[in-house]
Amino acid sequence: MRCPFCQGLENRVVDSRLAKEGDVIRRRRHCGGCARRFTTYERVDEVLPMVVKKDGRREPFDRQKIVNGLKRACEKRPISVDAIETLVDKIERQLQERGERELKSREIGEAVMRELHALDAVAYVRFASVYRSFRDVHEFMRELEDLIAERRQTPRRRRATRSARRRSA
Ligand SMILES: [Zn+2]
Repeated sequence: MRCPFCQGLENRVVDSRLAKEGDVIRRRRHCGGCARRFTTYERVDEVLPMVVKKDGRREPFDRQKIVNGLKRACEKRPISVDAIETLVDKIERQLQERGERELKSREIGEAVMRELHALDAVAYVRFASVYRSFRDVHEFMRELEDLIAERRQTPRRRRATRSARRRSA
């Protein structure tokens, strides 16, 4: 997306919301070249896949929902709002690159958790506990253990992760 002031291509999304009709996303962007802000409008079905919820209902991808969940998970963690926005940009790109028209909400949650896990283990566990339905608690714990084993954390850090989950549950 080219900046209308300086024609630069480096910019980041600072705010993103659905227009009233629900099929257009309005984005405020901050240009890295000239530091000015501009607005873009994008049609949802050209930008991101529809989200298929657990009960089969469809809804447009909602960036703000993910940003808010991440902010909650990152409370009192050494993580800036910028880092969260950058992480959500990355997730959006990943989802776009899949080229699917629809994605299960669960797949999106997993993409978020993968990225968050790489960023901060405590925030990851908090996010997982608010994001996931605890009907799936056994499956969730299995995946959590797998992820932790994958990253070869020390036993001490694993205990810290478990107690963080209890606190936020
Ligand atoms: Zn510019």
